[in-house]
Amino acid sequence: MSLGRRPAIPDLAHLARGIRARERAVIARAITLIESRRSDHQKAARRLVQELLPLTGKAIRVGITGAPGVGKSTTIDALGSFLTDKGYKVAVLAVDPSSARSGGSILADKTRMPRLASDANAFVRPSPSSGTLGGVAAKTRESMLICEAAGYDVVMVETIGTGQSETMVADMTDFFLVLMLPGAGDELQGLKKGVIEIADMLAINKTDGDNVKRAKAAAAEYRAALHILNPRSLNWSPPVVTYSALTEVGIAQLWDVILDHRERMSKAGELDTRRREQQVKWMWAMLEDRVRERLKSDPALRAKLPRIEGAVAAGRMSPATAVDEIAAALGV
Ligand code: GDP
Repeated sequence: MSLGRRPAIPDLAHLARGIRARERAVIARAITLIESRRSDHQKAARRLVQELLPLTGKAIRVGITGAPGVGKSTTIDALGSFLTDKGYKVAVLAVDPSSARSGGSILADKTRMPRLASDANAFVRPSPSSGTLGGVAAKTRESMLICEAAGYDVVMVETIGTGQSETMVADMTDFFLVLMLPGAGDELQGLKKGVIEIADMLAINKTDGDNVKRAKAAAAEYRAALHILNPRSLNWSPPVVTYSALTEVGIAQLWDVILDHRERMSKAGELDTRRREQQVKWMWAMLEDRVRERLKSDPALRAKLPRIEGAVAAGRMSPATAVDEIAAALGV
């Protein structure tokens, strides 16, 4: 028996108790369980999340994106500390699609957010570092639920601007904040329309020193650009603001906008609608991931796939017939 060599599944009741008591070491262990690729761990993690589900949903969920160097970690450290000063409990999570390739997590690293990392009212966790982007995002979403069950009032989910990861983070949060750099014309050229369309606010960081004028000019250009896009919601026009994470001028205003958005969306019933739609979306995304996983892990199926794919590529088998064969093997 090799029982002794396999790490035991943590006691779920113990984990649940520790999470409710907001013990950060236990929360970290629960997230490790969620991130584990072992199927028995995954099963246990699903039971844990299901059990804690009634305690979730109360946090303000904020997604944050921006190109590397825009000041995401400086902003999260400043905004997060501002919030813990006000008595909020803050969790920071990340979706970093590059961490699977680089082997390390870049985002939400404790060294990037020194104040929050040593703040008893904050919890900082780097991105899961293995799996598909969808898998990584799904795990981050479950980790967010754990943080909510632990009583964190604000959960910030950070991601780098790659388009797809941003959509996924927008799909798990209530408010999506897009950070920009000062400078007009040039930046506008590189403005990714898809990301701007899902933004609830554009915030131009580094509005300090010599940058102030350029930042204000950029804000005016972004405002004009936003006007020609269809708003994501009828109840909200995404504002363009300027601030400095370094001097912290404007950090409080970022939070004011987030609260204003929340109030309007709640009143209009759109917060609930958005969350309901998000939940169903995640169900389908996770189901698709599971089926794909099954395709790759089933040895009989895996052995068949190259032959089927080859036949389709050579034009000997129609894609529809191939799908029939694969689906039959999968039992769907
Ligand atoms: P990230 O890659 O988006 O997380 O960006 P960082 O937060 O690591 O910031 C990148 C660089 O920009 C660092 O050298 C920061 O000190 C600097 N930075 C961040 N915010 C500001 C700001 O408001 N003003 C200025 N002047 N520099 C900033």
